[in-house]
Formats: sequence, structure tokens, C-alpha cells
Amino acid sequence: MTVNAESSTSTASSWRDLPAAQQPEYPDSEALREVTADLAGYPPLVFAGECDQLRNRLGAVARGEAFLLQGGDCAEAFDQVSAEHIRAKLKTLLQMSAVLTYAAAVPVVKVGRIAGQYSKPRSKTTEVRDGVELPSYRGDSVNSPEFTPEARTPDPERLRRMYHSSAATLNLVRGFTTGGYADLRQVHAWNQDFVRNSASGRRYEALAREIDRALSFMKACGADPAEFHSVEFYASHEALLLDYEAALTRVDSRTGKLYDVSGHMIWIGERTRQLDGAHIEFASRVRNPVGVKLGPTTTPEEALAYIDRLDPDREPGRLTFITRYGAGRIRDLLPELVEKVTASGARPVWVCDPMHGNTFEAASGHKTRRFDDVLDEVKGFFEVHKSLGTHPGGIHVELTGDDVTECVGGGDEIFVDDLHQRYETACDPRLNRSQSLDLAFLVAEMYRD
Ligand code: PEP
Ligand code: MN
Repeated sequence: MTVNAESSTSTASSWRDLPAAQQPEYPDSEALREVTADLAGYPPLVFAGECDQLRNRLGAVARGEAFLLQGGDCAEAFDQVSAEHIRAKLKTLLQMSAVLTYAAAVPVVKVGRIAGQYSKPRSKTTEVRDGVELPSYRGDSVNSPEFTPEARTPDPERLRRMYHSSAATLNLVRGFTTGGYADLRQVHAWNQDFVRNSASGRRYEALAREIDRALSFMKACGADPAEFHSVEFYASHEALLLDYEAALTRVDSRTGKLYDVSGHMIWIGERTRQLDGAHIEFASRVRNPVGVKLGPTTTPEEALAYIDRLDPDREPGRLTFITRYGAGRIRDLLPELVEKVTASGARPVWVCDPMHGNTFEAASGHKTRRFDDVLDEVKGFFEVHKSLGTHPGGIHVELTGDDVTECVGGGDEIFVDDLHQRYETACDPRLNRSQSLDLAFLVAEMYRD
């Protein structure tokens, strides 16, 4: 896994001949070259074999035998790389997964939007405040959110920080998931700081008691499998900055194939999924499991073209379609897409992102989402797939383990007037822990019904 891909194969750099949307304009291209040359020599963040294993797990999702839970921040931030923040996020995902596994009785493939989710596509290239126009904030991997010319100037040294922040995060994630913290006997411990003051915490506690009883029963029967003591957890992010992703693309010495070793799974966003663009070309060259976000303008023909480009061998688990239509449109637009894809013989993983089609600006100016819209989009997603006989394969959500007030609604209701209290996101509004757990319980019900 040490061979530098760009120097050893032309396929790894074929994207360079095509237009790449949403790339930063660096003032000093020599500095970018130096940083990416260094990155190309750094150790891989993940291993090709792990990417293959995730592709196999997603293959089970594609066949209808498992469910994908993909979640984390909209944008990770360098100053949030702390044990406390990472543990809280992980804890939320583990609790959601316990709810889904137990209440829906389905194996859950757990993938974080984590350890690499530092780059953001923007609808507008600049931002104007009080008549002053500056480049938009594009994520900590590019520039800084403060509204000054210095902060907003893209700095390639930030790519190095993205690598190190991802490495530190992954190191902690690996420790938590294999070092005993994610042991199923910890189901109560994940909830401890939460149970007393929240309805979803109390509901979770009741479920954790049932899981405990089931575990004790199994142990008494002599069954205590290794699967109960650690958890398989994978990292994913949007492959947006192609200079970074390409510098971390390596030839796997076992297979001779290319892998983007910046994360296990990568996805291509709604704004960079041009069929003749650099991002799809890049994704077509690597063996990682790949996702494509599909917004409401996607035509069935486009979806079929993604399949031909990204999954020509029709390998279950290779390609995930993450639809993000909005609650008001999913029931109208998704059926034709799913029907035509299914009729072609392809079996992508179908995942619902109920966040990005449901964003609006509150009167206070906060970008927010209604929990009810999020839930309604997931409901629509389940309805469509059930009526067509296809598998509703998973959810892709923006969440945090912290008690933020960024989305409105949920069991411990957050009102529009509460948004200012703890609005901390570096980009889009996230579900807080209680809203995330509420969602998991409701999704488990939909899955079961
Ligand atoms: C995101 O996932 O944060 C995002 C920008 O999504 P999309 O590409 O679907 O708009
Ligand atoms: Mn987002």
C-alpha cells in the first residue's frame, strides 16, 4: 500500500483532464504542490482490505439483509477534534444502532461522516456582509469561517491539518470501537449522562434493559460471541477536494487496484456529480465503496449512467444512491427512479438523506430543519421502496452527540425561538442527541411494519 498512485498509473490522474467543480482557488500553486507531494508519502488512513470489507457489508444491504446507518457532522471542524466531541458523536451513533438492531431486528452497518468530513461545496462562491464581498467558507480543509480576507483565503497547509485531524480522530474511533467501550454490555453506559432529563433517554433506557436481559440469557446458555465485544465502524466523507483525495490514492499491493485511503467510503455530492466532470471520473477509478447524492433534478437516465460509470460490474455494495429530495417531493419523484434502475437489473444500495432537501431559513436567520420534515421524508422513502418491492437500505443523517439547538421539533421539542441557544454547526443544522434517538426509534418502527 505504499506505491504512490499518481506516479505509477495514468488512470489515477485521469480526472485532471476534466472540469472539477467546487475546487478552491489557491493563491500559491507551488505551495499546493508541496503539500500534496508530502501527503502522497504519508501513511494510509485506512486500509484497502477494510474498504473491501465495507463493500461486502454494503453488499448485504443491497441484497436487503442489512441496514446502513451513516451519520455525523455536516462539517467537522479542526477545533472539535477532542475526545469529548468524538466520543459523544460515537455514542449517539452506537445508541441509534442499538435501537435499530434490537427494535428492527436487522444488522446495522455503521458508517460515520467522520475523520475526513472537512470540505464543503457552496452554492455561492462569495459571501457579502455590509457591502464587503469575500470568498465563501468552504470547510476547515480550505479556509476559516471568520469574515476577514486572511481567514477566507484558501491555504493548502490546511490539507495537511485535515490529514492529521482525520488520523487523530480515526485513532480514537478505533480505540473506542475495539477497546471495550463499544461492548454491548455498555448499552447503559452510553446513556448515563442523558437518561434522567430526556424522554428519548428514558425510552432508550428501557430498551437497554431488554438488551441486557437478552445478553444475560445468551450468556447463561453459553453464548458470548466476539461480535458483542467490539463494533465494526467505518469512516466516510464527501470526496470534494480532488488534490487531497488523489494524494491519498494508492495502489493496493495485494490486488494492484487503486484505493482512496483517506476514508473507507467516499461519496460525491449533489453539486459535483456531473457525469462529464472530474469527481465522477475520480470515483470511477478507485475500488472503495462509493456513494452519489441524488437531488430532485436527477433523471432516471442519469442514474443509469452513474451505474455504468461507477459500477459497470454490478457489484452489490459498490454503489450507494443517497437520495435527498425533500419531504414534499420524495413520493412523487423517487418511484420512477427506483423503477427504472431496478428494471435495468442494477442493485445499488438505496439510502435516504432526509436532511438536505429540508433546509430553510428561520426568521432569526438561522439555517434549520424541522424534525417532522426529516421524519416525513424517511417515511416517504420507506413507502416508495415498500410499494416497489425494493429495499429501503438506510439513512444518512447530520447529527452530533452534543445538546445543540439547530433543528426544530423532536420529542424534547426545540422551538424556532430556541435556535440561538446552542447553534454551533460549522455549516448545516444537525440533529442533537435526543432528536437522533427519536429518529432511530421511529425508523425502527417503520422498518418493522
Ligand atoms: C452534505 O452532505 O453536507 C451536502 C452538502 O449534501 P448535498 O451534496 O446532498 O447537498
Ligand atoms: Mn450538510
